[in-house]
Formats: sequence, C-alpha cells, structure tokens
Amino acid sequence: MIKCDFHTHTVFCDGNNTAFEMARAAYDAGFSALGFSGHGYTPFDSSYCMTQNDTNRYLSEISALKEQYLGRMDIYAGLEADLYSVYDRERFDYIIGSVHYINIDGRYIDVDNTPQILKNAAQQYFGADMLSLCERYFEQVSQLENADIIGHFDLITKFCEREELFDMSSRRYRLSALTALDTLLDKDKVFEVNTGAISRGYRKTPYPAPFILKRISERGGRVILSGDAHDVNGICAYFDDAAALLKSLGVKNIVTFTKSGFKENSPD
Ligand SMILES: [Zn+2]
Ligand SMILES: [Zn+2]
Repeated sequence: MIKCDFHTHTVFCDGNNTAFEMARAAYDAGFSALGFSGHGYTPFDSSYCMTQNDTNRYLSEISALKEQYLGRMDIYAGLEADLYSVYDRERFDYIIGSVHYINIDGRYIDVDNTPQILKNAAQQYFGADMLSLCERYFEQVSQLENADIIGHFDLITKFCEREELFDMSSRRYRLSALTALDTLLDKDKVFEVNTGAISRGYRKTPYPAPFILKRISERGGRVILSGDAHDVNGICAYFDDAAALLKSLGVKNIVTFTKSGFKENSPD
C-alpha cells in the first residue's frame, strides 16, 4: 500500500485538525510522507481558504514539523491552488491545481457545493444545458498549466452518483473531458486519484472516472493517490480500493512526491 498522502487540509483552511494533529496521526499510522495542501487564497471567496496571514503561519508551522519529523517522516508544504487563487509559487514544495468555480463573466459558481447551484447556473447562463456548463468547467481545467498535480479532474461529477445531472456517457461530455485531459497530458502533469469525496460520504468511487484513467494510462500519463483529507481519518483513506481500481484498469504509472520530485512507485 502507498503510505503517503500529499493532499491534506488543516484548520488553517477548511480542515478539522491542526497540522500537528495531522502529522502525528500520519506518523502513528506508519506513513512515510505527509504533504499539506492548504487552499490558496481566492479574493472573491475567503470562506474556505488561507489569507496571506494564514499562509505565513501555515508555512512556519509546517517548517517546524519538517524539523520535528526529520529522518522519521517526510513533510512537505504544498498548496491546493484554485485556478483563480493568488499565490507565490516559490514558497511551496508543489502545487495541486484545482477548479472549484465556474467563472461566468466574473461570477464564480461553486462546482462542489450543492447540485441545485449547478442546476440554477445551467438554467440561468446556459439555457438549462448542463453539458454546456460541463464544457465550461473543462475549458477552465485545461488552463491549470501552472500546477504540478491536477486536483480532482472531474469534480463536476461530484453529485452524479446520487442524481443524474447530465449524461456522463454522452459524446459531448467525454469529448470536453478528454480534450482538457489531452492538453494537460501534453504538459506532462500528474493526475490525482482523489478519494476525498468517498471519505466525506458523497461518492463510492474516486475522481476521475474510469474512462479518464484509461486514457491517462494509454498515453503513459502519471497518477498520484490523494486522500484530500479534511481530518485525520481522511489521510490515505481508501487507498487500497483506489489501487485495486487502478490495477483493474491497467493504470501503472503511480507516483509519489519526493525531495527530488515525482518518483514512480512499485505497483504493490
Ligand atoms: Zn479541491
Ligand atoms: Zn482539497
């Protein structure tokens, strides 16, 4: 089993545990590395992210943890940057790039808040055509070129296991997803297999969908397992299930983050 997680949140943003608690839990569970990825600051919505001050405190707390666990567990200071986050790249060990909003002429629509918000946005801006909303979402995803890791690639499907908001098997949907995917594969980005929505009870399967994972595999792309942990229980949660899924789909290039960049992991 892969015993490291690079997508974790703390009380500095919308997580429920402190960085110290997260590190202790990871260490006690025998994990070899823990990367923090607090939400980068979005000026139009500060409800869930880190301000400049929070970011300073976040980085100094993580640097204390790096010292504390030196030689025992590797600690990294990453950032989950939204497409519209404002941040200084140089301050972080890696960047997870995510799209949490659909930008419609400067109005920012939450992708992962409630299904009703998505339905209303489709109604109001796209003549009730949910697939147009999806196309806009994936256009924005294709712009995540500054990230090292692409976060929850198809977050727009968050509610689709419970409710058919749109037809994920339709040609239009798949074309828009695969076009964004190809753009990012051309730039050799690493894609998350994100189990966070399973931990939080929204889904039974990780992001992204199998047809996307298959394309990543066919093109020799790389994936990384992410718990998107918002508390100590979310760290590395459902990684065995995710690894089994990847195996069944023939996805082989599973990487982890190290001090010298991404490193391929053995399949077991
Ligand atoms: Zn996210
Ligand atoms: Zn996250």
